[in-house]
Amino acid sequence: MAQVTLPDGSRLEIADGTTVKQLAQQIGPGLAKAAVAANVNGQVVDLSTSLNGETTVQIITPKDDEGLEIMRHSCAHVMAEAICSIWPETKLVYGPTVEDGFYYDVDLDETIRPTDFEHIEQKMREIVGADRAFVRKEMTKAEALAKLAGDKYKTDNISHAEGDVISFYSHGDGFEDLCRGPHVPSAGRIGSFKIMSVAGAYWHGDPTQKMLQRVYGTCWPTKKELDDYLYRLEEAKKRDHRVLGKQLDLFSFNEAGPGFAFMHAKGMIIWNAIVEFWRRVHDKYGYREIQTPIILNEELWHKSGHWDNYKENMYFTSFDDAGYAIKPMNCPGGCLVYKSRQHSYREFPMRVAELGLVHRHEASGVMHGLFRVRQFTQDDAHIFCTPDQIEREIVGVIELTFEIYRAFGFEDFRIELSTKPEKHIGSDEIWETATRSLEDALAHKQIDYKINAGDGAFYGPKIDFHIRDCLKRSWQLGTIQLDFSMPERFGLVYTDKDNTEKTPVMIHRAVLGSFERFIGILIEHYGGNFPLWLSPEQVRILPISEKSNDYAGVVEGKLKDAHLRCGCDCSDEKINAKIAKAHSDKLPFMLVVGPKEAASGTVNVRIRGIKENKTVNIDEFLRIAAQKISDKEINLAFGD
Ligand SMILES: [Zn+2]
Ligand SMILES: [Zn+2]
Repeated sequence: MAQVTLPDGSRLEIADGTTVKQLAQQIGPGLAKAAVAANVNGQVVDLSTSLNGETTVQIITPKDDEGLEIMRHSCAHVMAEAICSIWPETKLVYGPTVEDGFYYDVDLDETIRPTDFEHIEQKMREIVGADRAFVRKEMTKAEALAKLAGDKYKTDNISHAEGDVISFYSHGDGFEDLCRGPHVPSAGRIGSFKIMSVAGAYWHGDPTQKMLQRVYGTCWPTKKELDDYLYRLEEAKKRDHRVLGKQLDLFSFNEAGPGFAFMHAKGMIIWNAIVEFWRRVHDKYGYREIQTPIILNEELWHKSGHWDNYKENMYFTSFDDAGYAIKPMNCPGGCLVYKSRQHSYREFPMRVAELGLVHRHEASGVMHGLFRVRQFTQDDAHIFCTPDQIEREIVGVIELTFEIYRAFGFEDFRIELSTKPEKHIGSDEIWETATRSLEDALAHKQIDYKINAGDGAFYGPKIDFHIRDCLKRSWQLGTIQLDFSMPERFGLVYTDKDNTEKTPVMIHRAVLGSFERFIGILIEHYGGNFPLWLSPEQVRILPISEKSNDYAGVVEGKLKDAHLRCGCDCSDEKINAKIAKAHSDKLPFMLVVGPKEAASGTVNVRIRGIKENKTVNIDEFLRIAAQKISDKEINLAFGD
């Protein structure tokens, strides 16, 4: 008999050799129907795998990330078969999954055009409709190399494979592909798919090799999920921050400074509103703020380790016969401030924040509006503390981070813990202690996280914060990095209780990451429809004709006294044209005023995104607006 432990801890006895599929049927017909693969003893395998001895089994469905990936990869095989059936001379190269879909690189002299997509999809639908089983076949590396001799792409894939067992999967009329698997049990289990695009790609990214064609597709469990995804893509295009940034006059780029953003007056209003909020929250959490120079002597960067580990991304300059670097990070400057006087354990934890302007060289090809720039303001901070204060400090940073994200309407967070990379400084012991402290803090807050092995900073392990925007796109924003190395390199010390000098622990952290990038994310998240507290122009007064301009002036005066950012459209345009203009400027509130409003001391409020207008007293409007600003409310509707 085989002993199976399920994810809920329950145990089952089954006959040796029972397949995972049969096990799923035993658990329940619903699960068997949804199952696409299984995790057996930590390895993802096909449903046809048989179970023996002591095993832990988790049935995987397309609702799981792994299941979705398996379905998408199976869809890539189906697309490969469809392409080969249309163009039999196609040579298949490599077909992995990517976020939201998959691609397949093919070597084909004839160009695949978007007008061919429908034909390929039609073939794919036929293959899926035939619902043939995915069948795995195994052989040794030598056998596989012999079988595919002459196919330079597949023999290359085989030579890169780990272990000596090479597997092939077939699912159709003689169609077979080299593949590690696993796959869905049969082609009919593939959900709704669409071919998205085709682009040129070099084999192994090597421009001396032949240009291949990379065909991208997407695949979702249901038609509705596919449609939702396509809608989100369309919506993301409409919300492109580069387009909205221009339309709303928030920022620009100029060839005089590639990768360096010019923030315009309206963009700076958003910027300053974020800074003001950021300062208030940091004050509440016991931070002090400093500012350190942008240009610092080369020696300093040797000492910090940046010279050896980060030089390719740095800008340099020289004067007075000495070399200098433009700071890519704020930490060394922070260390110099720390060193400017003596410290006692009584001052710890010492939380020091800096809105630091940093420069990092990015290749010109990777820049993308505000998302990837060469100069940005980092909302940085360094916490100096004793080892036994680490966990409490990390917990504090997590709380502050969540508070800030929530204020912008982000509720969907994900956390990743990155461990020791190949290129690093500091001993293994230091790395272990640091990593454990981060794990303990996450456990304390009962936060689920994913581990990214080998992805830490060169000076310590880190926690990364990811948020999801309203289009379900994931963005990495904040980071917490523990550092036992830099304080030593800089000779930082404090006097401990026993009067001896000790080295403090340094925690680097950022919440928003880059201000520029964060503003780009906000523009797309809100689609330019900023909440009241962030709107560059919060209210516009629209007199219905010249006769009401005087009353409009009175209203504007009251709004200005109440510190609302407002304007008055006293142009000769018709009222409908004024409304249309304010609408395209994405004004949260328009106050339409005419003789009736003037006589009663009221305003007729048009609220962005809401059909129904409201007529209220000016004072009542001011009260509601002030409340929405102080609550950072995203919803503009008036409560009744
Ligand atoms: Zn495959
Ligand atoms: Zn730092």
